[in-house]
Amino acid sequence: MKHKTHHVDFCVVGGGMTGMCAAISAARHGARVALIQDRPILGGNASSEIRMHIGGAHGKNNRETGILEEIMLENLYRNPLKNYSIWDSILYEKVRFEDNITLLLNCSCNDAQMDGNRIRAVKGWQLTTQTWHTVEADLFSDCSGDSILTPLSGAEFRIGREARSEFNESIEPEEADKKTMGMSCLIQARETDQSQPFISPSWANKYPTDDDLPNRGHEIPRSNFWWIELGGEQDSIHDTEEIRDELLKVAFGVWDHIKNQGDHGVDNWMLEWVGFLPGKRESRRYVGDHILTQNDVRAEGRFDDLVAYGGWSMDDHHPGGIRWPGKPTIFHPAPSPFGIPYRCLYSRNIENLFCAGRNISATHAAMSSTRVMATCAILGQAVGTAAAVAVHDNLTPRGVYEKKIKELKQTLMEDDCYLPWNVREIPTLTASAKLTASEGDPEPLRNGIDRPIDDTNNGWTGSIGSWVQYSFDNPENIRGLRFVFDSDLNRKGLNMASNYPFNMELTTVPKTMLRAFRVEALGEDDVWKVIVQEENNYQRLVRLQTDIKTRAVRFIPEATWGDERVRMFAWDVTSS
Ligand SMILES: Cc1cc2nc3c(=O)[nH]c(=O)nc-3n(C[C@H](O)[C@H](O)[C@H](O)COP(=O)(O)OP(=O)(O)OC[C@H]3O[C@@H](n4cnc5c(N)ncnc54)[C@H](O)[C@@H]3O)c2cc1C
Repeated sequence: MKHKTHHVDFCVVGGGMTGMCAAISAARHGARVALIQDRPILGGNASSEIRMHIGGAHGKNNRETGILEEIMLENLYRNPLKNYSIWDSILYEKVRFEDNITLLLNCSCNDAQMDGNRIRAVKGWQLTTQTWHTVEADLFSDCSGDSILTPLSGAEFRIGREARSEFNESIEPEEADKKTMGMSCLIQARETDQSQPFISPSWANKYPTDDDLPNRGHEIPRSNFWWIELGGEQDSIHDTEEIRDELLKVAFGVWDHIKNQGDHGVDNWMLEWVGFLPGKRESRRYVGDHILTQNDVRAEGRFDDLVAYGGWSMDDHHPGGIRWPGKPTIFHPAPSPFGIPYRCLYSRNIENLFCAGRNISATHAAMSSTRVMATCAILGQAVGTAAAVAVHDNLTPRGVYEKKIKELKQTLMEDDCYLPWNVREIPTLTASAKLTASEGDPEPLRNGIDRPIDDTNNGWTGSIGSWVQYSFDNPENIRGLRFVFDSDLNRKGLNMASNYPFNMELTTVPKTMLRAFRVEALGEDDVWKVIVQEENNYQRLVRLQTDIKTRAVRFIPEATWGDERVRMFAWDVTSS
């Protein structure tokens, strides 16, 4: 068989939303990265192979930003009908065309070479090329969901539910067990303009009446059938193939029930798609320097080393899945946001191994909240950024905690990651310049908080054609401009559809977003000259490089995607 060896700084295993954000952030900060993904496409449970929409923190203005928001806005711009092939292509291009990333698709990681308690290399089998790939790296991150690097490296992990007494978690059972949340094969349906018969396969389950699907809302088009769930009472790794067979019987049986058993008002609806690759919710979780618990979540996780946040309820599915006739899940309350500390994002005993995604160091209870994909994505960005810091300063993941946590947090905030209760440091030139505007108060643009919090707007509002200006006592070299525009953090709607109604509403870029703007600099002759002209912006975080010496720069908004007023949350000017 053919063998190939790659030498990189940082190797990410698993290309779900988490692994993608980890790889992209590390690469953008200068690390040489390899991403090993065992499927032909990226996105994990969010990809077209599983089709779960991305959820995150509840509550006003709590939407996750950073790389995830960049991807979401790209999708809103290019994918008005929420087509899964377009979504897959956006995820693919974000990684494939990022400098510094070697992307190994169709490559399943299944071996690790160790030097004591360090991983030296991992190995993967690429199905399409019949090639063994070895990736040697200084640092690794396990973003595989099922934590493949725990058995391969000897990293400590947990599986199942903790006993209530272990961490004093009131929502946990009295006795510890190995039960988990189950996995699902989802269904999607499409409405057409004609009657659509459905003949059920003979092997599908039978659900003759609604009472056979108790507590399982199956109204079309709302349901995405997340409750077609099994495997929580088996081994959610090694029994997956057997569980998949059972899930397919359920999935086709449920569709037969909807189409043929009683009137569900779905005559014109057809079965669009059934997932044959089960989407997983839970298996191994790493043990890091801190284990996040229910009590940390309830106390809002105000850790000094918080590098990401959650805000979904502790959504603890019954391990019986669809075999359990009661409610399939309990939404135990969680505050939103709550902080997640950096110390949950690396292995306690393998010194160069990060973890991110549903496998972080958390109890079953805390994980039932942190597992949602927007939370996983920002955890991935935190790990990728930490890896770049570690590569730059020759540190281990723990070393970053001990020596560079402040720098890590600042970099994340500069990259538009929201860290609740933290304030971004403003570049010296921005802080020392004179800031004026033709209307409104521009001062919040440099307050270090790049989104509204409670009743405080933290931004500047003006009209089209108005201006905001930085002036300097002496001419300054302006090398960079950083803007944070308004992508409407409270916008409704999912990133992708659960089902496809006949006249589906088209999605578009949020109306609040700034579409066109220009930046002018004051010349030596006291005449304003245009140095940036943007006609088709749809991103929230915009960074521009400039090379100009001037006494003043002006920002002038020219058009939004719909709103009359313009709103933005930050504008920095930098001299380096
Ligand atoms: C039916 C269902 C409903 C859910 N509902 C929601 C919801 O409403 N909103 C929400 O946000 N979340 C939801 N979740 C939870 C969420 O999807 C997961 O917790 C999340 O996807 C975990 O992210 P991850 O990156 O850790 O893992 P994944 O998304 O599973 O990504 C891991 C990737 O690693 C790859 N991989 C695995 N092993 C290897 C290997 N050995 N080598 C190389 N690659 C490997 C996998 O193929 C996969 O692509 C749901 C999950 C399910 C199953």
